[in-house]
Amino acid sequence: MLVVMFGPPGAGKGTQSERLRRHLQVPHLSTGEMLREARAKGTKVGLMAAEYIDQGQLAPDHLVISVVGGRLDRNDCQCGCLLDGFPRTVEQARSLDHHLGELGKSIDAVIDLEVDDEELIDRLLKRGRDSEKPRHDDNLETIQHRLEVYHEQTEPLINYYRQRGILRAVDGHGTPDEVFGRIQSALATVLDEAEVSHAPSEGHVC
Ligand code: AMP
Repeated sequence: MLVVMFGPPGAGKGTQSERLRRHLQVPHLSTGEMLREARAKGTKVGLMAAEYIDQGQLAPDHLVISVVGGRLDRNDCQCGCLLDGFPRTVEQARSLDHHLGELGKSIDAVIDLEVDDEELIDRLLKRGRDSEKPRHDDNLETIQHRLEVYHEQTEPLINYYRQRGILRAVDGHGTPDEVFGRIQSALATVLDEAEVSHAPSEGHVC
């Protein structure tokens, strides 16, 4: 099953993706994580992305698209995956559709985690304070900018996926267990409505 975990920064995409990864037994691909790892390794991509991450801006589409594209082609994604933090622009969404089309696949569901801005800011500030490895972008100024960027550049994707009938809005308030329960119910409706194809590519058994 190929699921996109969608929502603003701090909505719980990472936390819920980890739970869903164990539940669905598919890899969890977080573009934020991939870029932070690339940065830690000091690769060209990582160093380029760092400038954008630290300013709360989106990394350039072509850069993120190439990172995700390469990862999607790997064997462990043949039976599906969880995309966390990608796509974040219409350009990325179109490119993902194109790439998946070439592989004979498509997105089964987009889970839109809804949390109001006030709570998002509280959560991200808390994460910045409590984390053993604080992120460069969990400070008030950058958080506010990330939210503006989300509303301007990423939120329009809600309509893009709603029109395709694959968007499932999920209330992201409450405990991680409560939210995960809602996600499971939302995915059950997707499975009910469409016979989700688990058809593996040649040579792969899912
Ligand atoms: P995240 O861990 O998902 O909050 O992402 C952290 C930062 O990585 C974002 O604020 C962006 O600077 C960058 N990033 C992650 N995913 C993307 C993406 N799909 N497109 C552009 N930039 C991204």
